[in-house]
Amino acid sequence: MSTGILYLCATPIGNLDDMTFRAIKILREVDLIAAEDTRHTRKLLTHFDIHTPLVRCDEFSEETAGKKILEMLLSGKSVACVSDAGLPAISDPGAKIVKLAINSGIKVCPIPGANAALSALICSGLDTTKFTFAGFLPKTGKNRREVLQKFSSHEETLIFYEAPHRLQKTLKDLAEFFGERQAVLARELTKIHEEFLRGKLSELAENPGEIRGEFVIVVEGKIFDGEEKISGGEENFLDAYEKLIESGVEKKIAIRETAKKFNLSRREVYNSIIDREG
Ligand code: SAM
Repeated sequence: MSTGILYLCATPIGNLDDMTFRAIKILREVDLIAAEDTRHTRKLLTHFDIHTPLVRCDEFSEETAGKKILEMLLSGKSVACVSDAGLPAISDPGAKIVKLAINSGIKVCPIPGANAALSALICSGLDTTKFTFAGFLPKTGKNRREVLQKFSSHEETLIFYEAPHRLQKTLKDLAEFFGERQAVLARELTKIHEEFLRGKLSELAENPGEIRGEFVIVVEGKIFDGEEKISGGEENFLDAYEKLIESGVEKKIAIRETAKKFNLSRREVYNSIIDREG
């Protein structure tokens, strides 16, 4: 007897038009839908005329519900896992069931769609080539400070989720640990009051705009500060450049930082390096 498939199915993060054709089809076809909040999901299903049975599978019941879901999958039935919004298993339940399924040799299949982190990132105007999804920060204490400290040295763009009542505190902490970096507050994505506030972390902490609805905070990664590695005493900029290279800094960044420090153009620094290398 063949086993069923576990589908990880995206649902809208605000705008119902973001429901995909495939998500509707799969949610109609599967034998069971495992939902974070059955009341919430039932409204979505009613809207799309889907009548598949529902079972609760939230962070508290994921383990016990997971076992039942696994039995169904092993007996050949297919199950779709949905959270309240966006992608299951992204700051939402789902990851435990996926692990259980994989360990039992069940096929796991994504049904992609809306996600708040990536929606905020692509409209942030910040570097999208490398990024870290940081999710929710620990709420208080040593753990929070340690995580903030760790992320403060990341050179890639950082994405945080935050609840509205904690937003200002988190922006203040980010400004304190990360310094003057560019950031974007993405509010109410895909909804009527969608907006993007851009500015330095300290400016956004001071003036976060309307603190209502849902937020993603996107923060510029640490810009390598050549000053940290250029200690005093160099005779000329070529020595300073060499020093950066020796300390492991990438050529492009070393040129940029040397140019900045000695008030030269990058081209001038580059040409002198070529001349010196002969
Ligand atoms: N699984 C979801 C996803 O794929 O994005 C995330 C769920 S997490 C429990 C909820 C958090 O996601 C919110 O507190 C907020 O930070 C962010 N979020 C969800 N929907 C959003 C929206 N429409 N606009 C801005 N942020 C949103």
